[in-house]
Amino acid sequence: MKDIFRIAIDGPSGAGKSTIAKAVAKALDIDYIDTGAMYRAIGYKMDKGGVPFEVCDALDAMLEATDIDFTGGDIILDGEVVNSLIRTPEVSMLASQCSALAPVRAKLVEIQRAMGQKKSIIMDGRDIGTNVLTDAEYKIFLTASAEERANRRFKELQEKGEHQTYEEVLEDIKQRDHNDMTRELNPLRKAEDAIEVDTTGMSIEEVVNAVLDIVKSR
Ligand code: C5P
Repeated sequence: MKDIFRIAIDGPSGAGKSTIAKAVAKALDIDYIDTGAMYRAIGYKMDKGGVPFEVCDALDAMLEATDIDFTGGDIILDGEVVNSLIRTPEVSMLASQCSALAPVRAKLVEIQRAMGQKKSIIMDGRDIGTNVLTDAEYKIFLTASAEERANRRFKELQEKGEHQTYEEVLEDIKQRDHNDMTRELNPLRKAEDAIEVDTTGMSIEEVVNAVLDIVKSR
């Protein structure tokens, strides 16, 4: 393995990207960067500040005055830890909406590319292999059926005491898949040189091992 290497993990909502990326980061002792959390933080801030979800001066001004960073696994928005504030179904949808706006993507992609230059990282999202880190040493496309992804997310939300039905979760997942795959800017798609791992029916451990095998075998 090279001294510095980047692992890009892309895939649809609920495919298990962050769970897998966190475990792989730990196993390889490298940093994990959750780009979805960055879009969530922006969606959250726009909603809170009443910034319209369209390209406009207010959005530019807000982005100019926004600082996003990761410290010890926490996502910090303008100096405040926002981990739990951005993990609600409402913010999931706001993130999906704001991620279609060019100024939002430009700002976040610039930060993400800079993060990928300094040290070995694993970064997950929708456009990491196709846009953010096109020269990543390893590219993985993680998928699972919409029903399996909805089931996983539904259990997660139940554990957190959120009250969404399975049907609502499935509908949300399908809506976000549609938004992410059909948007004009950097839509979700598998990079030509990415290896696809379909995690339907696989345990977390099995998927982590499959990813580690890919990284170690090249
Ligand atoms: O991965 P997560 O569900 O937290 O991402 C939230 C939203 O952010 C996604 O639905 C997607 O629309 C957007 N996103 C993106 N590009 C990325 C990561 C996330 O457009 N690299």
